[in-house]
Amino acid sequence: MEETIIAPTTTSDLKVPFESCLMEGRPDPCALVIVGASGDLTGRKIVPALYELYCNDGLPDPCFIVGCARTAMDDSGFREKMKQAIDRHKTLTEAEWAGFARLLHYRPIAYDSSASFSALAESIGEMEKAYGTDGNRLFYLAIPPSLYETTAKMLGESGLSREQGANWTRIVVEKPFGRDLESAMALDRALHEHWKEHQIFRIDHYLAKETVQNILMFRFANAIFEPIWDRRYIQSVYITAAESLGVEHRAGYYEQAGVLRDMFQNHMMQLLSLIAMEPPAQFEDDRVRDEKVKIYRSLRSFPLNDLSGYLMLGQYGTGEVGGAPVSAYRAEPGVNPRSLVPTFARLKIFVDNWRWQGVPFFLTSGKRLAEKRTEIVIQFREIPHSMFRRILGEGISANRLVMGIYPEEKIQLTFQTKNPGAKVCLRTVTMDFHYSQDYKGPVLEAYEKVLLDCMLGDHMLFWRQDGVELCWSFLTPVLEACETCGDRAERLSFYEAGSWGPDNNRSEKRYGMENCN
Ligand code: NDP
Repeated sequence: MEETIIAPTTTSDLKVPFESCLMEGRPDPCALVIVGASGDLTGRKIVPALYELYCNDGLPDPCFIVGCARTAMDDSGFREKMKQAIDRHKTLTEAEWAGFARLLHYRPIAYDSSASFSALAESIGEMEKAYGTDGNRLFYLAIPPSLYETTAKMLGESGLSREQGANWTRIVVEKPFGRDLESAMALDRALHEHWKEHQIFRIDHYLAKETVQNILMFRFANAIFEPIWDRRYIQSVYITAAESLGVEHRAGYYEQAGVLRDMFQNHMMQLLSLIAMEPPAQFEDDRVRDEKVKIYRSLRSFPLNDLSGYLMLGQYGTGEVGGAPVSAYRAEPGVNPRSLVPTFARLKIFVDNWRWQGVPFFLTSGKRLAEKRTEIVIQFREIPHSMFRRILGEGISANRLVMGIYPEEKIQLTFQTKNPGAKVCLRTVTMDFHYSQDYKGPVLEAYEKVLLDCMLGDHMLFWRQDGVELCWSFLTPVLEACETCGDRAERLSFYEAGSWGPDNNRSEKRYGMENCN
């Protein structure tokens, strides 16, 4: 048979032009209702994302946006507040802003008042008639988790959760989904009193980052990686989400949550499942989520009587970040000066299945670390036998695959190559792919993608309750062990702000904590 000669690939070989990959098309006309619209998330993420969608013709046509919260404001006050919020994050153009601002409305509500929600329902009904949006509705709960249950119930009791005819009604819930297994199950029961599972969208915006979405494409749209993606070739996996920022203005939340609830129960577990899961037969939301859930079911329980080899907890002390001195966690506004809340954790996790038996997954996340960096490193095994041993000794570095999520969006493979010259010398080189390399067009930010998917009704990037519960089942015993036992203080190592976290040799140092106990 004649062999096809394949020409070198260029970007012109792409089957689909980049521009047409940005969006599937506009979602159905709908009303977007943000509950908690006076808050941080609305101004920093949700409304700027909606504005960006509007500018890229990604918002439904027609649609309107209603902000609700206790704060007294009228439409023009809300518009002004949102204008300033968008201006802080995006380049705002007056013509586009004028068009977008017309879609923004505000209705004050009291979260526990039925009358207030009935009035909201009436307002939404009137606006639907005026805009012609057909009755599709998306409710985004951008409120503290303590208000989720009441608000979901109030929306339900006022008839706002009902789907009529072909119209859809959806509710978006932000993490954290509970603070342990029991509270996560209670929240779910409360949501299901008035909402069906297909109406609930549990957001994890990490999943909407392009590089995170690409993990599945990289693994399952290429034939060459999957055969080596297992215990025979992979020595260990490192998943790191380091932040250089401290707790900032979220001390109230963080003091209750700590790093395990804030980062591990959600984002880190999602990254782990994307790396470890089996290929589903179809790229469909429930097929993908089924495979993730199988990974959560295979997580080996932590040995609670011997946690030290599996869990390291730390809290940042004083130090320097970006050349400027920064305070210790305990000195941050709103933090208990004797707080034992961890701001850093490293977990060693095993996935007990055929593919991953014996391969440790090291998950690390922390605040006030040396830099903001999110990446996944696949460390391959060393070569089984070195024919260069007599010349080079034992030191041949094993291959390593780095999937950079932030700051560099990249995929990098390291391998050994010969140095030019008569002598046999090896060096480690890298094959690099950077997302920005040959693409300069617009990209969807994570919140733009999740909002779009909520409007399109695509659950692929959202948590399903069985996954939430399995992750809590895995982490809750550790949280209980860390939070209730007598040696809680001994478990916590202090680390210097601006470092890479606690170091076994230095953890006796106190980094400005000497007078805090
Ligand atoms: P905020 O603390 O800013 O609260 C949002 C709004 O809720 C406030 O403007 C306030 O509005 C109302 N509110 C706050 N506290 C109370 C209270 N005790 N009783 C009644 N109403 C209250 O929250 P965020 O915007 O930061 O976050 C919203 C949700 O999103 C939270 O669940 C959070 O965990 C989650 N999240 C937030 C992220 C962020 O970056 N901010 C990131 C990921 C998730 P008013 O007083 O006007 O009613």
